[in-house]
Amino acid sequence: MQIINGKVFDIKEGFVSRDVYTDGMYIAEKSGDDVVIDASDCYVIPGLVDVHFHGCVGEDFSDATPEGLQKIADYELSEGVTYICPAGMTLPEDQLTAICRNTAAHRKNNSGGAEVVGAHLEGPFLSMAKKGAQNGAFIHEPDANMLRRLQDAAEGSVRLVTLAAEEPNAIEFIKAAVDMGITVSLGHTTAGYDVASAAYAAGASHATHLYNGMPSLHHREPAVIGAAFDAGARAELICDGIHIHGSVVRLTFAMFGAERMVLISDSLRAAGMPDGIYPFGGQEIEVHGNRATIAGHPETLAGSVTSLMGCMRKAVEFGIPLADAVRASSLNPAEAIGIADRAGTLDVGKEASILLLNKKDLSLRTVIFKGQVQ
Ligand SMILES: [Zn+2]
Repeated sequence: MQIINGKVFDIKEGFVSRDVYTDGMYIAEKSGDDVVIDASDCYVIPGLVDVHFHGCVGEDFSDATPEGLQKIADYELSEGVTYICPAGMTLPEDQLTAICRNTAAHRKNNSGGAEVVGAHLEGPFLSMAKKGAQNGAFIHEPDANMLRRLQDAAEGSVRLVTLAAEEPNAIEFIKAAVDMGITVSLGHTTAGYDVASAAYAAGASHATHLYNGMPSLHHREPAVIGAAFDAGARAELICDGIHIHGSVVRLTFAMFGAERMVLISDSLRAAGMPDGIYPFGGQEIEVHGNRATIAGHPETLAGSVTSLMGCMRKAVEFGIPLADAVRASSLNPAEAIGIADRAGTLDVGKEASILLLNKKDLSLRTVIFKGQVQ
């Protein structure tokens, strides 16, 4: 396939005029066939990677059903999110085990939709004081043995775990997780700067939805935000336009640099669905427009109803340069879950997961996934 006349995302140059070639499922130096796609008036960007969302189109990853996960994967691909690492919630270990088994089984079936790269365990190793919309009844102290059992159930596909660094055994847990090939992210935490810095020194490298579920950035107590900055960690931002003010999106990109920002949707099962009441991790959420809150607690935000594609567009609307917003939705999350050798840019040799966006409004014109036009 040859994609011509587009403005093509380049990690060093931003957007350049060049052609992109694919051969089979990979980006190549030359086209493997005679197919030509005209990308006039389009940006050509890598497929997006969402490492933190819970569900969409009425389905939740935590339900652990094969049909539900398939619907999630199909919907995400239709939105241009080609690689996903959905997040579980704070739940009892047997339910987390079911989530992990379902992930492993889905990966083996290879039944279409976005690639489910693995699972993000957002809980149960969180702080009660910063549980947000998570169910406090199932919060558990950091437990490396439990994590190992879950990683076994997932057949090695747990890619990310969120941790409250102030809880007992956190340092030992971090070292064990890193040994299991799992990226450790600090979040849903009350940790101060010193505790968080020690966690980053022990191997944590990511921050879960920066600002949400952690102490605010205070000039004398910078807590996790300051520690993540100083440690060179990557930071997630929920860029749905509700969770974070546009000014804070801009200043966080400026502080951390676009190479460390990871845009996430944190979307719930209500994404792609009408307003209403929906079940969520043993609780209920209420959705009005693009705002989702715990039912009866309109002040407690409970994730978003926007896909990562919508969040990337919102970042651009907030003034983030398109190339930076693309990087923060593709390469950076790909690095966070260990797939940057095959995803996240349009470099020769990577999987041909390519999106064409209309220049005028960034709407999605074409999704190519592993060399196949969808
Ligand atoms: Zn959360």
